[in-house]
Amino acid sequence: MTVRTRYAPSPTGDPHIGNIRAALFSWAYARANGGQFLLRIEDTDRARLQETSLEAIMDSLHWLGIDWDEGPVVGGPHEPYFQSQRLPLYQHAAGRLIDEGNAYRCFCTPERLDQMRKAQQASKQPPGYDGRCRDIPREESDRRAANEPFTVRFKMKHDGTTVLHDLIRGDVTFDNALQDDFVALKSDGYPTYHLAVVVDDTEMQISHAIRGDEWISSAPKHIQLYDALGYEPPVWAHLPLILGPDHKKLSKRSGDTAVLDYATNGYLPEAMVNFLAFLGWSLDDHTSLVTIDDLKQHFDLARVVPNPAVFDVERLNFLNGYYIRAMDEERWHATITQWSGQQMDAALVAAVAPILRERVARLDEIGPMTAFLFGDDAPGYQAELLAEKLGGDAAIAQTVLDTAMAAFSEIASEDWNQASIEAAIRGLEPVLGLKLRKFVSVLYVAIEGSPQGLPLFDSVAIIGRSRTLHRLAAALQKLA
Ligand code: GLU
Repeated sequence: MTVRTRYAPSPTGDPHIGNIRAALFSWAYARANGGQFLLRIEDTDRARLQETSLEAIMDSLHWLGIDWDEGPVVGGPHEPYFQSQRLPLYQHAAGRLIDEGNAYRCFCTPERLDQMRKAQQASKQPPGYDGRCRDIPREESDRRAANEPFTVRFKMKHDGTTVLHDLIRGDVTFDNALQDDFVALKSDGYPTYHLAVVVDDTEMQISHAIRGDEWISSAPKHIQLYDALGYEPPVWAHLPLILGPDHKKLSKRSGDTAVLDYATNGYLPEAMVNFLAFLGWSLDDHTSLVTIDDLKQHFDLARVVPNPAVFDVERLNFLNGYYIRAMDEERWHATITQWSGQQMDAALVAAVAPILRERVARLDEIGPMTAFLFGDDAPGYQAELLAEKLGGDAAIAQTVLDTAMAAFSEIASEDWNQASIEAAIRGLEPVLGLKLRKFVSVLYVAIEGSPQGLPLFDSVAIIGRSRTLHRLAAALQKLA
């Protein structure tokens, strides 16, 4: 059997972290098995459609390194890959279901359905269609269809059970008594998700339908639809729920935001791939660092666990730092130039690259961390900041600046380097009668505009003698 998987997002917004994991796992499973991966756009909900969503979906996939063999842009033998362009297929299937007695036209108005729901709520009955149109004779149905709007409802079996054989969950049994005759085709001729996914997964020869846990309750509908249409269902794999650090369902607040926001906020795709991979899967019982190539070779649904995964942003930050430090020099230099937001010559990039690499956890820190390298003055700060770590004692701050000024002035331009600066600053300890860690923040603020930043000795060396003296003088002036 050829493995064919798909990612089938609805273009109703930018793909979120929780959702894109299904793309990564589907893609990896196809790649690891020499199969094909499809991108299909499920755009049948016209009311929730967002124009920019398709771009965001494709950009998110590109950013992570996920390519598709069939779908938008690349085309393929099952074109079109947009459900809105495939309506005749669904309408045909709905017609067949009606003809074969597995579905019926429902003429209930939205008002009636609304009243029904309210009555069910009031009498504490389970919600669901009450079946009023289920037994309308075919002739009457045909006649009314000529001038009344209708939906097509699927006749669910109401007795017995429906069993989902899930690759991750094992068998899951659903009680048919709780199932409802759902709408398969809407009155505007568009299918619902249930009909469209069954028709398309069949027509596109999907072998494994890998999707989020939130779809598991739809599985009995799909299973009965496959059965009624006489189609062979795919292997289903419902990925485990993702919980936030609070162990509640992942929400926007706990990190389930747009994938591309993570890119904008300075995360590396390698870190995100590694992070997403472990939301339910593992390579073995000890490996914690995996690349997209590892996934491509070794991803296996057999190693996806059913129990919920926890989204831990600290872990993502750790991975990001790891991959920043693992970048080759050329890419790191290019990254610095890109994220500093400033014109930087190669020598400056090379000087700052090693110290920056140790400090940065997210690339969006590069801009603020390197801001002090540009211009004569330190980035703007309040005078109080100079003495903040000295309990607000401005007099000590002033002494620190004065003595530093004197010490730096004695270093000749040609001797201005990390070692001589370190010696000068350490030499302030006996003069001031203070430990370095006590007073160093004054110098950090004067030079870098912040009590923490890139290592001070290197930073002072990089900005040079005249700018250093100028900034110390400026700090003294602020205190005065
Ligand atoms: N359109 C559904 C979604 O947005 C697809 C679910 C599936 O993969 O079957 O998640």
